[in-house]
Amino acid sequence: MTKYDYLIVGSGLFGATFAFFAHKAGKRCLVIDKRPQLGGNVYCRPTPFPLGEGRGEAIINVHQYGAHIFHTNNKEVWDFVNSLVEFNRYTNCPVANYKGELYNLPFNMNTFCQMWKDVHTPEEALAKIAIQVHEAVEQINARHAEEGFPLLTPAPLGEGWEGALNLEEQALCLVGKDIFEKLIKEYTEKQWGRSCKDLPAFIIKRLPVRFVFDNNYFNNRYQGIPIGGYNVLINKLLEGVDTRTNCDFFKEYKDHWRDIANQLVYTGPLDEYFGYSLGRLDWRTVTFKTRIEDTPNYQGNAVINYTSHNEPYTRVIEHKHFEMFGQAVYDCPKTVVSEEYSTEYKPSMEQYYPVNDDKNNALAEQYRELAEREENVLFGGRLAEYKYYDMAPIIEKVMGLF
Ligand SMILES: Cc1cc2nc3c(=O)[nH]c(=O)nc-3n(C[C@H](O)[C@H](O)[C@H](O)COP(=O)(O)OP(=O)(O)OC[C@H]3O[C@@H](n4cnc5c(N)ncnc54)[C@H](O)[C@@H]3O)c2cc1C
Repeated sequence: MTKYDYLIVGSGLFGATFAFFAHKAGKRCLVIDKRPQLGGNVYCRPTPFPLGEGRGEAIINVHQYGAHIFHTNNKEVWDFVNSLVEFNRYTNCPVANYKGELYNLPFNMNTFCQMWKDVHTPEEALAKIAIQVHEAVEQINARHAEEGFPLLTPAPLGEGWEGALNLEEQALCLVGKDIFEKLIKEYTEKQWGRSCKDLPAFIIKRLPVRFVFDNNYFNNRYQGIPIGGYNVLINKLLEGVDTRTNCDFFKEYKDHWRDIANQLVYTGPLDEYFGYSLGRLDWRTVTFKTRIEDTPNYQGNAVINYTSHNEPYTRVIEHKHFEMFGQAVYDCPKTVVSEEYSTEYKPSMEQYYPVNDDKNNALAEQYRELAEREENVLFGGRLAEYKYYDMAPIIEKVMGLF
């Protein structure tokens, strides 16, 4: 008899949620992670700051692998995570800074009134955007006619414009010149490391605009951050489960995992499992420069996007605003901020976003065929499926397995 029913490789939300339900069903699980801590990408580094004379300390949870905001429409998932840890009222309302001008995001009536001083009503905003879109379509069509390219026509289902030669043309014809130039162009170029003229049009099919005063980034019914941070959620999921950190599956278990477990749940990179035998899958990544600022409130918001080339980073995150509200912001005398840099991926870096282009999708498909032939191995999560998932869909997926 083997010791464990499941060896679970990776303690991110997929592995931890799987372990939770398996443990609840009476199964014996060992969860391993090659990182020094549990939690995968939702792990937060607790950073304590003394509050002064006998008042203890405040903890700022630093989102070490990128800012994570939980959001979902799925009541079952929301009730499940809240049964483990209560979530706070954090609502994601990012702000854009374009050369010192501040705009609310996502594009809504606040943005439009900040952008155009003569816009005060939805009707005026709609008219302004319609004029700029019309001008963009006219100009691009004139150029296309001159250079022998097909003219633009609205795509079916409102998904942008057919005939747009690149992302710049597509975006200009969706929202017009002002929003494109101040809030999309340079930000997108920093994200992709390329000119919008060299990026394919299909990346942007829709650019949602809201003609209401609503800065809530997500359209979901439920959103928030676990009170006490994501580590509380992970610890609750893994309560009573055997875990090992600093434990790399390939160094310690790959060849003999069947000796210690009946089944393997693998949430690491798909290509690595097969020794990169068919080639490496590409990723996009982000790097962070994190520092402590000697002020209680550095930027007044958790997320500020920097949408011009003046700053090399795309966003600045001020972590305390995810969990501290009102006076609590000022009770903690310091703050932690992270600049985010969109960076070309190299093999030693964190794998953040799959590159779902034709080449990589085809390679992933070949690996998936190999994966299907592996007996008693479940490949799950963003790395093993080579698929971007938000947190709630990961939990939903695991709940579906049980
Ligand atoms: C920058 C960024 C920001 C995000 N922001 C949001 C957000 O705001 N809201 C949202 O809903 N979702 C967000 N997500 C998505 C969210 O992070 C994922 O849905 C979630 O992390 C997926 O969990 P997972 O278990 O599949 O992967 P991970 O969390 O990556 O867990 C995989 C684990 O496997 C371990 N592992 C890999 N190989 C081995 C090995 N050989 N041996 C042992 N262990 C191994 C890794 O160390 C890691 O801990 C974001 C993702 C990124 C990249």
